[in-house]
Amino acid sequence: MVRDRAVILPHHCLEITNTRPSQWAVVARASFAPYAVCPSCADRVPLHGSPAQLWCIRCQQTFGVEPADALVVPEDPPN
Ligand SMILES: [Zn+2]
Repeated sequence: MVRDRAVILPHHCLEITNTRPSQWAVVARASFAPYAVCPSCADRVPLHGSPAQLWCIRCQQTFGVEPADALVVPEDPPN
């Protein structure tokens, strides 16, 4: 729990955020097919393979896709 202190993030984290502001976030879990979340409208599209870019039908725009292996979400622990 953070109360009175300012939270200072490591500089390299901020750099990554700033240099890659608009990428599909890949969500991959063992229990369902992986999908990507649009950085602009948060629409979800199923992911097939590891595309470098994806087209968003809603935004009418193409965004890059972050590396899938960077964001594989572990299953929640049983308890
Ligand atoms: Zn979109």
